[in-house]
Amino acid sequence: MSDYCSICSPFDDGYDIDLAKVALELDNGHSSNVLCEVCNIKAVYKDEKGNIYLAKEVKNEIELESTTIEKLMP
Ligand SMILES: [Zn+2]
Repeated sequence: MSDYCSICSPFDDGYDIDLAKVALELDNGHSSNVLCEVCNIKAVYKDEKGNIYLAKEVKNEIELESTTIEKLMP
């Protein structure tokens, strides 16, 4: 069974990985490994300025995708 993150969960009130919570708890300049097998998110990263990125695996390479807390809310 796959884990769903808060972005791709098909359920209204259920998901395994709360990306917004992970991002909020990150200190600037740090990343946290998560694994959503559905959308291939491998990690959440916050840079020194507090900008948030999702690290996704695309064709065996990690791509950083800029995002915001609002977008991570389910
Ligand atoms: Zn997902």
